[in-house]
Amino acid sequence: MKSIYLDYAAATPLRSEALEAMMPFFTDEFHNPSAAYLAGRKARQELEDIRRRAAAVLGGRPAEIVFTAGATEANNLAIQGVMRQYPEAEVLVSSVEHESVLGPARLFANREIPVTEQGVVDMEQLEKMISDRTVLVSVMLVNNELGTIQPLREIASLLNKLSILRRQQDNSLPLYLHTDAAQAGNCLDLHVSRLGADLMSINGGKIYGPKQSGILYIKAGTELQPLIVGGGQEFNMRSGTENVAAAAGLVRALELASENKASESRRIFELRSMFEKGIAERLPNAKVNGAPKGRSPHIISLTLPGTDNERLMMELDERGIQCAVGSACSASHEEASHVLSAIGLSPSEARSTLRFSLGRHTSADDIEKTLQVLASLTD
Ligand code: PLP
Repeated sequence: MKSIYLDYAAATPLRSEALEAMMPFFTDEFHNPSAAYLAGRKARQELEDIRRRAAAVLGGRPAEIVFTAGATEANNLAIQGVMRQYPEAEVLVSSVEHESVLGPARLFANREIPVTEQGVVDMEQLEKMISDRTVLVSVMLVNNELGTIQPLREIASLLNKLSILRRQQDNSLPLYLHTDAAQAGNCLDLHVSRLGADLMSINGGKIYGPKQSGILYIKAGTELQPLIVGGGQEFNMRSGTENVAAAAGLVRALELASENKASESRRIFELRSMFEKGIAERLPNAKVNGAPKGRSPHIISLTLPGTDNERLMMELDERGIQCAVGSACSASHEEASHVLSAIGLSPSEARSTLRFSLGRHTSADDIEKTLQVLASLTD
């Protein structure tokens, strides 16, 4: 039985081009980029070339790119890196952030920005919440459970306006914007100046690159304290011998994601529309969560009233269909998803909600088969 994988928001298979880009660094070109002999200097050159290519895709400068082991680390470096410097300050995070943002934010004074029923940050509330001691606002680009796209540019212009006022009032605290873009790489523009972010986290494992590879983009002038100290690699932001292979695979995947973004988003959008149309026809009680528009095309959060999502997920799995219960990125699913409760779903609705996420290998046949199986299981 061919399995139908509909959990691309949890993990993507490594693409062959990324693997190819990584291979030399596992074999002949294994040298330490800090070594002074020729082979070491060559490894350094390769790494810096990879960094330049990452900067070109993201619209930043090479010195603004720090390679990390995934988005969790990038989020921790962004939040803890800023906040540790300002013990009296506070961080604001949206209430639908991934645990890897909420966790570090909770180490400091923090408040959660409410979202609308569609999962979009409430701009009026955000403006009211920013105080004289707010130094960081962290709002994800695409939500991993709903696919909702956040109004990042709007948030960036609000913060710019407030930063100017702050300077006029002799308040020297910065006001930074961080975005977790882990779910945005395949379908959205990641150009940092268009987004207006000071800090942006990216994840290789969601864009057909290697797992435990990531980038924290740090805009020049943004002060951070490193979490991992030692040899001073990655501009002192992340010590440890660099993983050139992971960086090579991640950046090749990032380049290809950027090149194919328009056509791939369109293709996936059509598949999702087909899925949603089928759901409306065959599962009339089901409800798609999140903004009807302004959603990344790869995610569908579906509430099927009266069902038990764990059970339904297992039954789908037995029939070869892999999907997720709430967020697949947290190790435990004991509690109802904080994202679904933030948009107003009751605990029982949340426990009847599945996430389907589409990707490069999803076909129209997969969608049709999934609709048939879902309809038969929920009859
Ligand atoms: N942020 C978001 C929005 C995610 O969806 C995920 C993982 O799914 C992460 C961060 C964490 O990524 P990783 O576990 O690869 O560090």
